[in-house]
Amino acid sequence: MDKNRVSLLEHWVQFWMWIRRIPLLEHSAWWLSDRLYALAMLIRQGSESMTLHRLDNPSPEQIIANVCAYNSRASRQPKTPLSATYIAVVRCMDRRLNLSRIFGDLRFVDDIANPGATVGPSVIEALRIAVEKHGVRVIFLLGHTGCAARSIACSDEARDFPLITATIHQHDAGIADLLADPVMIRAMVERRLAVLRATIDSDSDRLDDLQRYVAQSGNWFPLPKSWLLNRPAIASALSGHTGHPL
Ligand SMILES: [Zn+2]
Repeated sequence: MDKNRVSLLEHWVQFWMWIRRIPLLEHSAWWLSDRLYALAMLIRQGSESMTLHRLDNPSPEQIIANVCAYNSRASRQPKTPLSATYIAVVRCMDRRLNLSRIFGDLRFVDDIANPGATVGPSVIEALRIAVEKHGVRVIFLLGHTGCAARSIACSDEARDFPLITATIHQHDAGIADLLADPVMIRAMVERRLAVLRATIDSDSDRLDDLQRYVAQSGNWFPLPKSWLLNRPAIASALSGHTGHPL
């Protein structure tokens, strides 16, 4: 590509980035993309014989057949290139939670789900991998409203789920272990990592009581309200994702 064309491309990208900063246009783009996405899902659900959408009380064999047919077709499509992983989230496996309504594109997220969103030794090791190997910069520890796993752990049913119950009751100690982990402390002190906690409203997926851990003082602090009103950082369209150590 000659220099003039590269320059023209750069100008076009800069113009587009500038356009994106106009809130009304940006919100309009979001509104339009939401509608197009809903339309695409409607078309797929209405016409797709290989997904699970149209199955009514299916047998395991029907589900497996549909999964195999769908995978056979989908795996022939080009795969999206691997992006950086900026976020690791520990959250409950409750089906009401929709992470895409919290983080948007989940390709940027290491998703660690378990009953009750507990932090124990194996989760701490997974988070070490996320920080050290995947380059994660923010850990979200997310409880949620109406957590069935936590209710079970405090009921007679706990006898049927002894391991989950034990992990739930040891959750606070697990958090303390995580925050004392040398990998986490070093990353926080070097300002490569922030650890946040919050509660997801299970009906809306809204994050409530968002707090950040400050390693120097050993305390949790609410995020300043001004952060929630800030314009989000906009990545340059010309920059690649460079934060991935692998
Ligand atoms: Zn739950």
